[in-house]
Amino acid sequence: MEARRSAARRLQQARRVVVKIGSALLVDQATGRLNRHWLETLAADLARLHARGQQVLVVSSGAIALGRRHAGLPAGRLKLEESQAAAAVGQIRLAHAWKEVLEQHGLKVAQVLLTLDDTEQRRRYLNARSTFLTLLGLGVVPVVNENDTVATSEIRYGDNDRLAARVAQMLAADCTVLLSDVDGLYTSDPARDRAAVHLAEITDITAPIAAMAGGPGTADGSGGMATKIEAARIALAAGCHLCIARGAVAHPLQAIEDGARCTWFVAGQSPLAVRKQWISGTLRPAGELIVDAGAAAALGRGKSLLAAGVTAVRGRFDRGDAVRIVDPTGTELGRGLSGYTSADAARIAGRRSGEIEGLLGWRGRAEIVHRDDLVLVPGTGRREEDD
Ligand code: GLU
Repeated sequence: MEARRSAARRLQQARRVVVKIGSALLVDQATGRLNRHWLETLAADLARLHARGQQVLVVSSGAIALGRRHAGLPAGRLKLEESQAAAAVGQIRLAHAWKEVLEQHGLKVAQVLLTLDDTEQRRRYLNARSTFLTLLGLGVVPVVNENDTVATSEIRYGDNDRLAARVAQMLAADCTVLLSDVDGLYTSDPARDRAAVHLAEITDITAPIAAMAGGPGTADGSGGMATKIEAARIALAAGCHLCIARGAVAHPLQAIEDGARCTWFVAGQSPLAVRKQWISGTLRPAGELIVDAGAAAALGRGKSLLAAGVTAVRGRFDRGDAVRIVDPTGTELGRGLSGYTSADAARIAGRRSGEIEGLLGWRGRAEIVHRDDLVLVPGTGRREEDD
């Protein structure tokens, strides 16, 4: 119990937490109605995290399960267009329920519906990311689901486990909780094998571990253990811890903190460290920003690169592309992701932050490269610190 409670510090200490809720928890199987009382206990948990200063995102399934009965659709497997219709009917009810239960705690709520393209295509990814960051900055709790009504089978996630992990990766969240109808991963199916052993902590998803997941298995929703392992893979690669826990108890997040049995997939690195490795290692820079001596010194002190310090822009690049940052003598200082296209960067280069809106016609951010999107060449200024 004590070991489990200490594992749960990963949830208590996370800055940004994604909580995914499966359909089977939200919607009563027999009646097709929302499990409102349970949802209220979860909302109280989320409010407690928020009050502790943690940023919270909810990935909520349940649109199809809620909508099908209401729309008068038959039990059993639905045709694609039927499940899309059910999702349309159910999503409005789902969002309304979330709004009601979270508002009781004074929390502001936003609905975000994503398709696969929004997380896989760079431009859309960046847009979705900045919307999420703006919402979180405003203290709003985003409630996310797949946009099932427009997603066709070829271009959909189909399960919210992987969607939750992608959202966590997109936002460099440090902890993801998958609330499910099982309390974690076992060496074999505990329903069939009495010798099945529960696994409390996994640091590496080896082939035998992946094999333990078996096929899709659990009651409702489209997940099963296989998609949860896939989600864990995405999360770990992004430096995010992921916990699979049984959700069908009152106050399920509190239960984890109190030491309830669950499986933790433990990330070896922080999300920021992973992101920085990716920036410095795998990207071919699409252009260059030449900076003056003052900016070079500021970068060395761990600051972001502001427009004022840029003297010239070379190459053609888009927002979010990697660029080299070069000092007046041509020495590479580091690499980063540009917050502006090359054309816009050239327009605002050398200008003060207050002038940006007048030059571009919209309110852009002051940094051309934000410090979180920047990796300095070793030896440039002080050592970088993850914070
Ligand atoms: N997006 C689906 C829904 O809201 C659920 C997908 C899943 O079961 O993970 O009904």
